[in-house]
Amino acid sequence: EAALYVVATPIGNLEEMSPRAQAVLKEVDLIAAEDTRHCKQLLKHFSIQTPSLSLHEHNESQRIDQLLNLLAAGKKIALVSDAGTPLISDPGYLLVRQVRSAGYPVIPVAGPCALISALSASGLASDRFYFEGFLPAKTVARQKRLQALADYKATLIFYEAPHRILETLADALSVFGGERQACIAREISKTYETFYTASLSEVQAWLCANPQQVRGEFVFLVEACKANTSADTPSEEAQHLLELLLQEGL
Ligand code: SAM
Repeated sequence: EAALYVVATPIGNLEEMSPRAQAVLKEVDLIAAEDTRHCKQLLKHFSIQTPSLSLHEHNESQRIDQLLNLLAAGKKIALVSDAGTPLISDPGYLLVRQVRSAGYPVIPVAGPCALISALSASGLASDRFYFEGFLPAKTVARQKRLQALADYKATLIFYEAPHRILETLADALSVFGGERQACIAREISKTYETFYTASLSEVQAWLCANPQQVRGEFVFLVEACKANTSADTPSEEAQHLLELLLQEGL
């Protein structure tokens, strides 16, 4: 039966490729991959012979009709990205939306996702979190975005490239202040996996003192804002005053 499978693949360690992901990639008629060369290496490792075709941010909208035609012919398709869960800072959203609105099943095959791995081991609060993905590359836009997030009451999660991590850290420090806890989760599930959780100023000092750490792939997390700045949650003091006024019938 025609269906689109959204299949997560490893973010480093190949042992995180689930048996279900392998079975689905073997069984489907076609794999839509962010980068077919990269995908072929993965398929080779798991002895999967399914043909693949490219679907990346520059051709996603053109590919959709082609893939919808295949679904109409009863084919099964899998979507994979270069690493982790498709659609998470990766292409696929347009395809999934259109496949769903055309009435075909879209089936997730869950697996690795860098933000979830990072959060789960960071030591920062995990009850509420906000995933921003990549910040803008230009300084002014990046600082503006950080300012907009400054009083969110949720752990903030960012993806960042190694050549921008120091700049982003400096901007985060100036916007959030040096006291806020933060975490660098680097090269998750790979040989040089490193987690460092401390105050923003300590994280910055650590990264500057260890240039060998400014390599590879990064998730950057920042503790939630603790200050009571939101207008819709009055401070304890204000609440107490309000109660007194109400008691007095004022
Ligand atoms: N779809 C992927 C996922 O599920 O996490 C994310 C794709 S995004 C284009 C790539 C970014 O994810 C990297 O720049 C980095 O911020 C983060 N990332 C991916 N693999 C990672 C790893 N092994 N360790 C740390 N961060 C990683």
